[in-house]
Amino acid sequence: MTRIHSHLMAAAVMAAFTGSAVASDDRKSSITGTIPRTSAPVQPGDKEWSGESGGSGHPQMTAAAIRAAAAHFPQCIEQLWPLAARRGISRASFNAHAAPLTPDLRIMDFVDSQPEFTRSFWDYLDILVTDARIAKGREMMEKHSAIFEAVERTYGVDRYVVAAIWGVETNYGDIRGDRPVIRSTATLACVGRRQNYFRDEFLSALEILHRGDVKPDRLVGSWAGAFGPTQFMPSAFKRDAIDFDRDGRRDLVDSVADVMGSTANKLKRGGWNAGETWGYEVVVPATFDFLLAERGRTLTIREWEQYGLKRAGGQAFPRPDDRAYLMVPAGVQGPGFLMLPNFRAIMRYNPSEAYALAIGHLADRLRGGDAFVQEWPRYERVLSRAERLELQQLLARHGFDVGEPDGRFGARTRSAIRDFQARIGQVPDGFASAVVLDRLRAR
Ligand code: CA
Repeated sequence: MTRIHSHLMAAAVMAAFTGSAVASDDRKSSITGTIPRTSAPVQPGDKEWSGESGGSGHPQMTAAAIRAAAAHFPQCIEQLWPLAARRGISRASFNAHAAPLTPDLRIMDFVDSQPEFTRSFWDYLDILVTDARIAKGREMMEKHSAIFEAVERTYGVDRYVVAAIWGVETNYGDIRGDRPVIRSTATLACVGRRQNYFRDEFLSALEILHRGDVKPDRLVGSWAGAFGPTQFMPSAFKRDAIDFDRDGRRDLVDSVADVMGSTANKLKRGGWNAGETWGYEVVVPATFDFLLAERGRTLTIREWEQYGLKRAGGQAFPRPDDRAYLMVPAGVQGPGFLMLPNFRAIMRYNPSEAYALAIGHLADRLRGGDAFVQEWPRYERVLSRAERLELQQLLARHGFDVGEPDGRFGARTRSAIRDFQARIGQVPDGFASAVVLDRLRAR
């Protein structure tokens, strides 16, 4: 799965969770009447490439390598012609859509950008699940109720989750990128450190144009090539796009029916179980063994209840035999969540727990559900990138396995933090607090 995030709204606020890099200035307002042509050179007013090497230190991200690749760009595109032909793309289409392209080197400034500060789960939820977004979502679902009804009936995917993806990705279509997808993916296929991944995206985008599913002036999106109200990548389009309104085109930009049908289809193919929810907020007792809170450890709800977990708000769990894993994103100080298989289906849409939790929660709120019951530890300071790196380096120095320190926290770092917490007699909840960093520094 790509680390380069395809999702505009979500990506811009969640960069921290995936280590992805989407610069805030790539978030453009809604599409106006002036849409750049497919082969347009750098637009007047568009910022140019900084001319600097990327921060990753990758040999293909040095300024000299970027310049050399850009000089070779027309040949690079031409070398992709046999692959395009194998996909049934005509030479006429290739000449029209691919041959005239120039690289959009501004994108190279985004590929390696690393957010210095990251957001907590609670900030992320606060930004994405707002009263305004709930109200607008209900309005949009009402307006398109026949489509949501048909989509739910056809795919068995909860309509509120489909609507939540629409809301989180682009605020129901309001916020999209304005970069031509064919040009962005061509640039990334020929310049920089992600060429292998983006070659397929470029060829898939070419297929979309060749087949006429989306018109060139409408196939615009984020710098990483995601487009439309629910931010499909071209390769995801190839796998999951549906002509739900049966007009002969799979229009994942301007047909609400095609967009919602395809989004539901993608969730269904990601393993969505009809008639089930994504998970439950739970109260975790302070004496709980937090080592059990692992994504790989699924138990039945009934078994979790035997460990003392209760549903927040006091209701009974409707299906005690369902299997779930426990997630405690803020450790012992915050709410717990029991995650059902549908949570993983949402994560296949976008592999971030914070993203999936925002989708699940917005869906519940659209349905008329309540806000989470338990407080988040809002007094906790979120560690900066430098501090995260330092925390990993200190853990490694003390013999805990964090892999290669990179400032990104995954399951390995969380597990190392737990081991350290256990050693110093703290509740081993894996939460990277400023206190943990201080205790490491003091050793
Ligand atoms: Ca259609």
